[in-house]
Amino acid sequence: MRYISTRNNRLSLQSKSAIVKGISDEGGLFVPETFPTLENPELFSSLSYREIAFQVLRPFLSDFSKEELIAAIDSAYDKKFDDPLIVPLVRTCSCYYMELYHGATCAFKDIALSILPLFMTAGISSLGIDKKVVILTATSGDTGKAALQGFMDVPGTAIVVYFPEEGVSPIQKLQMRTQKGSNTKVIGIRGNFDDCQRAVKEIFNDSPLVEDLSAEGCLLSSANSINIGRLLPQIVYYFSSYAALVRRGDIDYGDLINFVVPTGNFGDILAGYYAEQMGLPVHKLICASNENKVLTDFINTGVYDKNRELHLTNSPSMDILVSSNLERYLYHLSEGDDRLVAQLMEELQSKGVYHLPQALKEKMNMAAGFADEEAGNAMLKKVFEEEGYLMDTHTAVARAVYEEYRQRTQDSTPTVILSTASPYKFPRAVFSALGEELATEDDFAIIEALSELTDTTPPQSILDLRVSPVCHEETIDISHIKTHLEHYLKGDHPW
Ligand SMILES: *Cc1c(COP(=O)(O)O)cnc(C)c1O
Repeated sequence: MRYISTRNNRLSLQSKSAIVKGISDEGGLFVPETFPTLENPELFSSLSYREIAFQVLRPFLSDFSKEELIAAIDSAYDKKFDDPLIVPLVRTCSCYYMELYHGATCAFKDIALSILPLFMTAGISSLGIDKKVVILTATSGDTGKAALQGFMDVPGTAIVVYFPEEGVSPIQKLQMRTQKGSNTKVIGIRGNFDDCQRAVKEIFNDSPLVEDLSAEGCLLSSANSINIGRLLPQIVYYFSSYAALVRRGDIDYGDLINFVVPTGNFGDILAGYYAEQMGLPVHKLICASNENKVLTDFINTGVYDKNRELHLTNSPSMDILVSSNLERYLYHLSEGDDRLVAQLMEELQSKGVYHLPQALKEKMNMAAGFADEEAGNAMLKKVFEEEGYLMDTHTAVARAVYEEYRQRTQDSTPTVILSTASPYKFPRAVFSALGEELATEDDFAIIEALSELTDTTPPQSILDLRVSPVCHEETIDISHIKTHLEHYLKGDHPW
């Protein structure tokens, strides 16, 4: 399997190189040249999560030995997950919830970021790289912690995470600021997530800076979902959830199902599209947005327009106006038209808007909808009361969008909602959505009250935060990001 850049399809790399590199030099993203078909996917219902992961990842990672891949899968999907199924599927009276938050940091990012560092170290050693691989990551909250946890003390790597000071939940902030590991660095940015993401992309595209750091022994790479090594592991759970439905006898192999995906950077739903291209029987992928509904508008009209105000909501991981992975979708939709993709991305950068050609718009098989904070909160409360299922604020957006979709289309296809974070990651927002109030600044008091009210148990890793020392306190202006990074990487550090 070769990977090509969305903006230059003459460039072609094997998976290890694409993963270590992260992003292509001209700014494009790596995509698989073709979508492999799987052998006997109808038998997946008798396989474990790890076994399905092997079947799905193998054809994509053809330059990994069988042993390398098995070792990576086995050490990624182990006791770090507090559910032996890794991604359990919960059924309520209305739909299914695919719980992606049983990993170390309680959000779906753990699925990919538990294995990405292992891909990276395999790549570093096979490619004979003698430089420190420095992972730069912009986060809207969940990626940062999951990446820090994944790369903590991984030999040959260091990680620097930038998060928007005003754009993440207090628990998310605390999770990052208490990060251990001699190779980790966490920096608050005065700005929003799009500012952070743009600043990090600019670092990658600043060739003199990249060369200068390379001369100092640092090779920059990314753990954001622009890295293809993030995307591939996410395909697995679409197959594993489908297999779970077959195993339960709720569907027969071959029956179509829907997935509803709470979407920000378009990585999670793109993995669903990849699964569909590989033959998974999907009726509709439903893209759910919060008030920042740039994707809903795009899917419904074919016009991508980021010229609007960014709203900070109680589903912060979806507060995004520039969804990086959409670029990959455009590439596949246009059957590899790298010039068109480069042109659209140029228009997005210069004008903040682009129009998809009509023929491509017609090829999009996604549905889309959005739910504002009020609708999400109301749904969170309703589902808890009527279905006995407690979900986080991002999942509530997806659930609300599904409700609206089902009423509008009368589509009764079995539907899986991707449940992307533990409700305890956003305790204050969840507690208040349930109509409760507690006059306290202390999120841990809210966690306790939420647990009592709903008779659910908070994840241990979140309870542990209460006594974890803060190791990272820096906040900088976005304009200082480059000089700050240079200073840090050229300075004395423990690694
Ligand atoms: C990252 C995240 C999302 C959005 O996923 P994308 O791949 O960026 O579309 C949704 N919910 C939660 C909880 C997340 O952490």
